[in-house]
Amino acid sequence: MNNYFEFFLKKMREKYLKKRKESNPNKPIATWIQDDIFLDKSVGKSLTIILRTVGCRWAYQSGGCTMCSYLMESSPSPISTENLKRQFDYAIEKVKDLDEFSVKIFTSGSFLDEFEVPEEAREYIFEKLGELEEEGKLKEIAIESRPEFITEENLKNIRGYIKNINVEIGVGIETFNEEIRNIAIHKGVKTEDIINAINTTKKYNVGIKAYLLIKPLFITEKDAILDAINSGNRAFEIGCSRVSFCPATVHKGTLMEYFWSKNQYRPPFLWSIVEILKNVKSKNQDRIVMCDTSGIPTKRGAHNKLNCECNYKIKNAIEKFTLTQDIDVLDIECKCKKYWESFIEMEERNIVPLGDVNLSFE
Ligand code: SF4
Ligand SMILES: [Zn+2]
Repeated sequence: MNNYFEFFLKKMREKYLKKRKESNPNKPIATWIQDDIFLDKSVGKSLTIILRTVGCRWAYQSGGCTMCSYLMESSPSPISTENLKRQFDYAIEKVKDLDEFSVKIFTSGSFLDEFEVPEEAREYIFEKLGELEEEGKLKEIAIESRPEFITEENLKNIRGYIKNINVEIGVGIETFNEEIRNIAIHKGVKTEDIINAINTTKKYNVGIKAYLLIKPLFITEKDAILDAINSGNRAFEIGCSRVSFCPATVHKGTLMEYFWSKNQYRPPFLWSIVEILKNVKSKNQDRIVMCDTSGIPTKRGAHNKLNCECNYKIKNAIEKFTLTQDIDVLDIECKCKKYWESFIEMEERNIVPLGDVNLSFE
């Protein structure tokens, strides 16, 4: 199956990549400051930098993951070490007047992959961050990487510059169900590789933030809930430093969009997300459970009945929950909850996952 599947994914990816545009190689894709929760549960400012690189190696090689369109934001032309240094310098200027902050550096791929960020650029960035640590301004740093690049050598290198503060690596674990991860999501990552990466980071006192996808393709709403709860609990059991749930959003040029446009996929209900967060947080009360809210509540993102007034209420509640870790803020009621319950019941009797019944019958 995988060969045909990969062939299809690659062709689809290639078709969309033709639409990719050139942008300034010296400017990051995006950079912003926001309120954030640190590992010690205090709240402060964080600077997020999304570096512009050539993009994820896995997406080029294999067509990539079935819900991911990050490659579209990457650069069609090579990005040099010099370009990356300038991107970082441009972004770090934004925090020059802050006394305390954290820095999150993402690439929409793997920061630790040489293919995206050459060693010299990476060391330049860590050196500058090390200086900010010495000045007492840097609270913690976060990067993202696939597990195969989380090696002893890379971690030793990081800890050579960033001596004491929390360092966290966000890893797209997506789920602890290997079949879902490698068939439905097409991640190409074994659970064994994830466990090895976690064990390696522990030696260097580096944390792993588990990104878990809520509702991949090809599974029902009910299975998506069970899978996310199980994965959240398992992530903490095996030593992840925090869990960040990512409710699926239908991005352009992905296999997810292909099925969504045929009404064979529906992004998760917000009720499902609330159930997942309550469940995982109550079982792991001293741990940080977060949830991304981008895409909520559009028809391509997680939503309850479209246009129901509870959509924004729940979105705000999820954002509040991420910052405060207070489970009570998720206690919201709305009459459309019955609709969600009956959707799940009906889908369980069906033979394929349901699309957005909202769209077809409303
Ligand atoms: S989800 Fe991550 S690993 Fe998968 S294609 Fe996108 S950037 Fe690459
Ligand atoms: Zn509602």
